[in-house]
Amino acid sequence: MQTRFTEAQLADPDLQEANQILRACVHCGFCTATCPTYVLLGDELDGPRGRIYLIKDMLENDRPASAQVAKHIDRCLSCLSCMTTCPSGVNYMHLVDQARRRIETSFHRPLPERALRALLAWILPRPGWFRLALLAARPFRRFARLFPGRLATLVSFTPFSLPGPSAGDRPGVVAAEGRPVKRVALLRGCAQTVLAPEINEATLRLLSRHGVEVVVSAGAGCCGALTHHMGRDALSFVRANIDAWTREIETRGLDAIVINASGCGTHVKDYGYLLREDPHYAAKAARISALTRDVSEIMAELGLKRPMTPEPIRVAYHSACSMQHGQRLGTVPKTLLMAAGFNVLDVPEGHLCCGSAGTYNLLQPEIAEELKARKLANIAKLDPAIIATGNIGCITQLARGARVPVVHTVELLDWATGGPRPRALVQG
Ligand code: SF4
Ligand code: SF4
Repeated sequence: MQTRFTEAQLADPDLQEANQILRACVHCGFCTATCPTYVLLGDELDGPRGRIYLIKDMLENDRPASAQVAKHIDRCLSCLSCMTTCPSGVNYMHLVDQARRRIETSFHRPLPERALRALLAWILPRPGWFRLALLAARPFRRFARLFPGRLATLVSFTPFSLPGPSAGDRPGVVAAEGRPVKRVALLRGCAQTVLAPEINEATLRLLSRHGVEVVVSAGAGCCGALTHHMGRDALSFVRANIDAWTREIETRGLDAIVINASGCGTHVKDYGYLLREDPHYAAKAARISALTRDVSEIMAELGLKRPMTPEPIRVAYHSACSMQHGQRLGTVPKTLLMAAGFNVLDVPEGHLCCGSAGTYNLLQPEIAEELKARKLANIAKLDPAIIATGNIGCITQLARGARVPVVHTVELLDWATGGPRPRALVQG
């Protein structure tokens, strides 16, 4: 694609990057066929190629974001299905991130929308406040529909019951069982620790059982992805994590930084890019990204010990977009589940997003609901006993409508190798 940036514009590293990305696009349109919003809405501007044209026009002409740009970029899930499809290697992720930043700084949203976005960006990365907010909203859950606008969606997402905080999420070290083969840091995360603390608990047990010493570092917390994908500056979270893990690397050493939410993993693997222009952090950020692994990658490296699933339970494996498109780990978790003895079933239209996409299901509930219904209908064709996935966002999204329990892959791997039955299966 031809571009018309001026020399002065190209002095800006972000525009230089945008220029390279845009020039890689040959506007073939292959990506439109696999874009969930194009599949649903059938509008060129709700597909990657159309969005790329909108972004090009805005950046080249140095325009503030228009209502049209905001509408079509807001509808993008950042699922990155287009990146998997693109034969020219167009880095849509870095391009749309720039567009979101420009929208956030130059487009004037209506007050209720601004307030909702500000609330989500502030509260989701702070587990203590997030827990309090959910507890406060819980009595109103049954009357969610009576609330105005997006507030109804927000309240309807409040879980009816909330597990207590887990000791496993406090900073500390979990020793390896037997001879240690690795020492890793686990990202405890933010919203996940409130909604499903059992995921970190299962991860700690699973890793420890396989000879891994796991440290939950003081000072590390939210990865910043949720805020970043809303177009806001989330670099304070990024730097805090880098500082915390760098201290670990420089004192006792780390073989990996392990992440069990694929959305967070995709973001931490991009820290090196995000801080590439920061003279103090660039090298440290690149080192952190290089060390980052999804928990399934580590488990595939270690190999499963004594899998002992009692029967070949039918598991529909939903590959989160961040897992298959963001990190290109489509088959790794599935192979592990099969090795653990589960009967793993591929979900039809597996490349399409379930509609979760960070805060998307709160900000674009109509499209998110349609995608969820389509995903659940595809899953129902498999008649599974369990749905497994590797991302808390997908778990929360699918559990609101699934007829069978939705669990994290590590909970099944933990169970199959000697851990307790996953909470969702006990309750289900
Ligand atoms: S598939 Fe790639 S090259 Fe083709 S239009 Fe989409 S982004 Fe551009
Ligand atoms: S990230 Fe997903 S929703 Fe956005 S343009 Fe690409 S395929 Fe479509």
